[in-house]
Amino acid sequence: MAAVSSWGRLSRAESRVIDLDGRGQVARQIGGPGPAGLAYGNGRSYGDVCLNPDGRLWMTRRLDHAVEFDRANGRLRCEAGMLLSELIALALPSGWFPPVTPGTQLVTVGGAIANDVHGKNHHRTGTFGCTVRALTLARTDGTVLTCSATENPELFAATIGGLGLTGVIVDADLQLRRVAGPWMDVETVAFSGLDEFFAISKASEADWEYGVAWIDCTGRGSSLGRGIFLRANHASEARPGPPERQRRMFFTPPVSLINGLSLRVFNLAYYHAHRRMQGVSRRSYASYFYPLDGLLEWNRIYGPRGFYQYQSVVPPAAARAATADMLAAIGGSGTGSFLAVLKVFGQVASPGMLSFPMPGTTLALDFPNGGASTQGLFERLDFIVQAAGGRIYPAKDARMPADLFRRGYARLAEFLPHRDPGIDSAMARRLLGSA
Ligand SMILES: Cc1cc2nc3c(=O)[nH]c(=O)nc-3n(C[C@H](O)[C@H](O)[C@H](O)COP(=O)(O)OP(=O)(O)OC[C@H]3O[C@@H](n4cnc5c(N)ncnc54)[C@H](O)[C@@H]3O)c2cc1C
Repeated sequence: MAAVSSWGRLSRAESRVIDLDGRGQVARQIGGPGPAGLAYGNGRSYGDVCLNPDGRLWMTRRLDHAVEFDRANGRLRCEAGMLLSELIALALPSGWFPPVTPGTQLVTVGGAIANDVHGKNHHRTGTFGCTVRALTLARTDGTVLTCSATENPELFAATIGGLGLTGVIVDADLQLRRVAGPWMDVETVAFSGLDEFFAISKASEADWEYGVAWIDCTGRGSSLGRGIFLRANHASEARPGPPERQRRMFFTPPVSLINGLSLRVFNLAYYHAHRRMQGVSRRSYASYFYPLDGLLEWNRIYGPRGFYQYQSVVPPAAARAATADMLAAIGGSGTGSFLAVLKVFGQVASPGMLSFPMPGTTLALDFPNGGASTQGLFERLDFIVQAAGGRIYPAKDARMPADLFRRGYARLAEFLPHRDPGIDSAMARRLLGSA
């Protein structure tokens, strides 16, 4: 037994931890008698989607091999425990890059599929699941199945964004995208409010592959919704990139370093520093996509009680008003995030039955665990999201009510028959009941 936590460090769950050893062994290792199990990738989900207290946890990180790499066409078949950082190290020297990447490269391919993660180019490319041509799935009854759009297509759609509940993904066949090298052309644009944000986002769609905004969540009145828009394209330069610099947060402070004062100071400084840096600059892919990876274990900043992330998406028609309402509620609460992220999702359909992205606007913020007052704020945000017809992202969640989940995910009934009865998670128990 070992105590395992997720990125938000809200709890430590005792589980029976089992390392999966090799592709051919997975079906045997996850079968047999014992409590229900769950695959664990690299624990970069914030809440309880990757936790299984009192059950088995199948650690996938040893499944990190490339099975086949067609360097001419960018097709990679790799084991599901490979990190995106390892995938990039393998593929970039041959001019290939993952078509979709989240804000950290320290996630496994299996975790990226199970949460159907999105990146800053959703408006062009859709989700990570859109890049998966096929996957191998091991079920606890001993079966091993190939799933793709043509073979077991329903199980394929249930597994992409399936929160690890349909089986263990053993390997995946991915289509990568061409790049010239490790460099990005990044334009920094300051905006003073939400109307300007939506206008810049729209105007950027045609010419910029990537786009995301940071919002000053402490802004009120005339500064409500001000922020910095960062849009980017892969550059045509092949020169090798700089070495990635990583520091580590070595200790957990006794209390959260995030409080009303530090938030105001940071947000003000960040806004004005970036306003001065407006214009186009050439940056390494790591500095554009993964700025937070530069400080390993930064999640300790929030102290021993941990933190939540709240990420919602609301449909286009309601996006402007709902985002303003949420920012006003957050600003008024005196709590909030160093980095509040705002992004417009595009029209590309997500392939998973429970995929989070849909056309609309997504807002993501971190909150220190402040007990009842934090929960009270989340209830106000839930109300706004539900009234707008939106939903919450399970990869970031540790507390959404089951009712909000059911209303947000219209294909839940279609998904449920594909659950593997030998798999369970803390999130599944909370939102779906037992397997
Ligand atoms: C700094 C930071 C930035 C982030 N930015 C983004 C972002 O921009 N966009 C975004 O979408 N997400 C983002 N995330 C969330 C992150 O991408 C997801 O939570 C991702 O799924 C984590 O992958 P993991 O390998 O750590 O999986 P874990 O967190 O360990 O597990 C996640 C889920 O995948 C399942 N799983 C893992 N491996 C397998 C497998 N082999 N077979 C079946 N199921 C499996 C688990 O059971 C669990 O349900 C961010 C997270 C962090 C910490």
